[in-house]
Amino acid sequence: MEKLAYEKPTINKIDFAMASKYGSPIHTQKIRTEIDGVSVNELTEKFGSPIFVFSERKMEELYNNLYSAFSSRYPDVQFGWSYKTNYLNEICKVFHRLGSCAEVVSEFEYQKARALGIEGKDIIFNGPYKPYEDLKIAVQEGAKIHVDNLFELDDLEKIATELDIVIPLAIRINMDIGVYPQWSRFGFNYENGDAYEAIERMYKSKKMKLVGIHSHIGTFMLDANAYRNATTIIMQLKEQVERDFNSEIAYIDLGGGFASKSNLKGIYQSTDVIIPTPDDYAEAITNVIYDLNKSENLPKLYLETGRALIDEAGYLLTSVHGYKRFPDGKKGYILDAGVNLLYTSTWYNFNIETDKHYEGENEPSLLNGPLCMNIDIIEENISLPPLHRGTVLSISPVGAYNYTQAMQFIRYKPAAVLIDKEGKARCIKEVDDLATVNYKEL
Ligand SMILES: *Cc1c(COP(=O)(O)O)cnc(C)c1O
Repeated sequence: MEKLAYEKPTINKIDFAMASKYGSPIHTQKIRTEIDGVSVNELTEKFGSPIFVFSERKMEELYNNLYSAFSSRYPDVQFGWSYKTNYLNEICKVFHRLGSCAEVVSEFEYQKARALGIEGKDIIFNGPYKPYEDLKIAVQEGAKIHVDNLFELDDLEKIATELDIVIPLAIRINMDIGVYPQWSRFGFNYENGDAYEAIERMYKSKKMKLVGIHSHIGTFMLDANAYRNATTIIMQLKEQVERDFNSEIAYIDLGGGFASKSNLKGIYQSTDVIIPTPDDYAEAITNVIYDLNKSENLPKLYLETGRALIDEAGYLLTSVHGYKRFPDGKKGYILDAGVNLLYTSTWYNFNIETDKHYEGENEPSLLNGPLCMNIDIIEENISLPPLHRGTVLSISPVGAYNYTQAMQFIRYKPAAVLIDKEGKARCIKEVDDLATVNYKEL
């Protein structure tokens, strides 16, 4: 056995809240030695630290579970991969290979999808800000434009005139689905009549026609009923429009927002208890369509799932650089990854696992990142054994939003690795360096 370094004894107050907060007795160590058969130490040795690691197996499993929940109930379902959730090329490619089209919310994401070979017709273009020239390109390429506001409707009317065409459009609507705060910033409101008025305007102009109705009611929705309510309103509006304008709405789009198995701060029950299953979500949405559909054809059903398909497939591996004893006696570890890479640490408590069993008493510790900022704290009160310099911690689930929202702040944005279905790890994004960061600077 290796000789342990001497450590000054400390006296710690027993924190009774911890047992319930972490759901486990203080003395269990959470250990993760590998991801899909690849050792975490090997991953950091070969690809560097910190590093994002994604499991293709898990992505496929999550996709298939959710997709089959819908396709077993409904004949015409199409998923659109939400680029902003994770737009690393190789991640997008996995979802496109599985059958997803692209869902984008900016010209940058639109261009990214096109560069990956996705045709305009297979791109859903959402978002409150679509620059005129980019909107025009998307129209010309036949993208599915989901109009967000009246100014955009003006732009689309102009584009239709310029190109001398009638533009098929979908409208994004927001409504009261019984979950608050309401996401009323995006699209047109249903209850106050804004949505209907906008549709009326499309038809009056004779330059646009409605082919789809879309809503994205929020993110991390813990109540499947919210989708029941949203689908009800979408189906009602669909029927009204079809009747009033004698047209057919070909598709409805219920957006994303299905919860992933993350531990939301302030919620103490296990994710298995509080998170609706794929079946719950699918049942809520498809039942309403069947109940309310009055047209000859069932509408095509789009879903823009993001976090539910990738969150649990992503890990951040970070290494212990050292530790400090603060004046109050508490131990604070310095890691090579902090809130610069874990934007979602504000809302979620992550699973934090060590790379092997460590001898010694567990004690409440702080996990600090590498930033020169007092707020750079990943965990304020985690029970850990004495860790060494170089200990690798796996932080999960972090597949959704953390890479795309990671800041190039103080340190370089890290590399990312994909472990494919055969269990082979390959680099899919190299760590930035001065040249890539300064690329456009004068
Ligand atoms: C972000 C976003 C999504 C994906 O949301 P998740 O909560 O990650 O499933 C889908 N549609 C739109 C319009 C979005 O903005």
